Amino acid sequence: MSIVVVGSVAFDSLETPSGVRERVLGGAATHFSLAASYFTDVRVVGVVGDDFLPEHEKVMTAKCVDTRGIERAEGKSFHWKGSYLTDLNAADTLATDLNVFATFAPKIPTEFLESQYLFLANIDPVLQLDVRQQMKSAKMVAGDTMNYWIGAHREKLLPVLRELDVLLINDGEARMLSGESNGLRAAEAVLKLGPKSLIVKHGEYGSTAYFSERSFADGVARKPFRAPTLPLEEVVDPTGAGDSFAGGFYGYVASQPALTPEVFRTAMFYGSVMGSFAVEAFGTERMQRTTKAEVDERFLHLREMSHL
Ligand code: AMP
Repeated sequence: MSIVVVGSVAFDSLETPSGVRERVLGGAATHFSLAASYFTDVRVVGVVGDDFLPEHEKVMTAKCVDTRGIERAEGKSFHWKGSYLTDLNAADTLATDLNVFATFAPKIPTEFLESQYLFLANIDPVLQLDVRQQMKSAKMVAGDTMNYWIGAHREKLLPVLRELDVLLINDGEARMLSGESNGLRAAEAVLKLGPKSLIVKHGEYGSTAYFSERSFADGVARKPFRAPTLPLEEVVDPTGAGDSFAGGFYGYVASQPALTPEVFRTAMFYGSVMGSFAVEAFGTERMQRTTKAEVDERFLHLREMSHL
């Protein structure tokens, strides 16, 4: 099974209590792809500029990520600058330079069209919908969004939400999307907007899944489920934690024969595991050297820590 992911491939400038980095490889699709590559084949669709060098592409191809869907355009790659100096759980965006992203019109390569799993990473919802329409045969669609699209482009986002089997957002985004401050009410209101299921990420405190009546037939299976995160000694750079969670979650789902409640829950644990690696170093540094044995070890550790 393979996943097609569309989203940003970027250079990030980051400041956190652990230090500062300029223009390191990042982007939602990059972090997602690396994390999902531990579980299944991943095909990435995005756009980069002439500052994207063979050494950057190698970060992905070294994990067997198929990069044929990364378009090369004249100009600079998307650049994002974020700071976590006030809150390690929430980035302050200091700059968003769209560059080649400004005119991006994703085109799914013909070889990718038969993929059964589609992930719409954080990107303009108009493009998300367009990609969904190009990938008509995808049997499962999951996606992410961010406060910018929820606040300023809500009407463009709503049709995307109706296409999703799983929406992954954080607490703040769920509150913003629903207008509710209570977590449970916010989740119920978001589900009414159309996604079959919803995962709300609570930063270092884990994540909770909520299910609509269109998800599982069995009412017991539709009860909310909470997955914890691994306690870490140091969070160096939270960038990409959400995308790595999504990659671990969706990669595991795509590696399984069917989406059962058990698979969904196990996938959330793998999401937490992949998020835990992402934050241990700047950019993609930690994920580049993560081994499958480490993934398995952390999964067992998380399971032991959280089961009676
Ligand atoms: P997260 O997993 O939520 O920490 O996502 C971090 C990644 O999102 C960074 O590597 C950024 O390059 C990327 N990013 C930030 N802003 C945007 C945006 N407006 N559109 C697409 N990607 C973005």
